[in-house]
Amino acid sequence: MAFIKIDRENFFYNLNQFVERTGSKDKIAIVLKDNAYGHGLEIMAKLSYEFGLTQAVVRDINEAKSIDKYFKNILILGDRAVANSKYSFAINSLDDIERAEIGSVVELKVDTGMHRNGIALDELDSALKLIEDRGLTLKGVMSHNRSADELSSELFWQNRIFNQIKERVKSSGRFKNIRFHSYNSASALRLDCKNQDLIRIGIGAYGYNELPEVYNKIELKPVLSLWANRVATRRLKRGQRVGYGGEYIADRDMTISTYDLGYGDGWIRSNSFKVHIGDLPIIGRVSMDYISLEAIDDEILIFDNVTKIAREMRTISYEILTQLSKTVERRVI
Ligand SMILES: *Cc1c(COP(=O)(O)O)cnc(C)c1O
Repeated sequence: MAFIKIDRENFFYNLNQFVERTGSKDKIAIVLKDNAYGHGLEIMAKLSYEFGLTQAVVRDINEAKSIDKYFKNILILGDRAVANSKYSFAINSLDDIERAEIGSVVELKVDTGMHRNGIALDELDSALKLIEDRGLTLKGVMSHNRSADELSSELFWQNRIFNQIKERVKSSGRFKNIRFHSYNSASALRLDCKNQDLIRIGIGAYGYNELPEVYNKIELKPVLSLWANRVATRRLKRGQRVGYGGEYIADRDMTISTYDLGYGDGWIRSNSFKVHIGDLPIIGRVSMDYISLEAIDDEILIFDNVTKIAREMRTISYEILTQLSKTVERRVI
């Protein structure tokens, strides 16, 4: 079976780069949504705990439940708020405040320009009032940047808007001890983090720095590598075809092997003709459980850095990683 190696040392190395930027482990929330970007929710939660992190971010309450023993607080991005002293819930709309269970802890998300989730700027006062009236505890005010990884001024105007929100919330005098946070990995890699209450780190912790080359780039080290095992080897004669549809035609005599990785394991099938494993093109179509390569190794490294493959597949590293099936074995090394 195909398997995944999780490199503990690289993960800690990456986290340390962010600790240097914030000056504190408590100011880093590890984003573990979507099976920790495909790395494995519980494995990465446990490693984060061993490193000394105390804050995490997930998508729903089921994810939170399976890892809450490792953290002081878990921010849940997309679920109905319920009363639980360890969980805080992102408020994405005024309706979310109405729906929240009395006694729940919430973090108000404000839309500073991404226009995806969060309340509008002109709803801020009503949202704060509603949170107070409903007896919810406001733990934080947050936002999300839409193009922190692009070479433009957008990040700066989104930040300016967020700073204005900070002032408005503080001067409303309604709430005490609120944490303000809007930085994801790219923001944290680009901007000074010393005065941030919290940064929410996903892709950077997993080892990818998606900033354009012109920035003074911090090197990060990919944590996940994907491997497959050889199932069978055969000699092909020139002109013979391989795989479903017989789309690949050997242009010479060659030796190929089948490896046990396919779209059933979450390996994306589309654009597979353009994808190279190392230097080797994938031969023919990707099947549910197999790919063919011109190789004879018993164990083959599919990737230890997904950047090139993501480019060949015309997608982003996040997608390839998060697609990897939960049933593929993860080994921590
Ligand atoms: C996914 C997510 C993050 C992490 O973003 P990265 O670019 O992976 O660091 C941070 N905040 C929110 C609200 C998110 O949804």
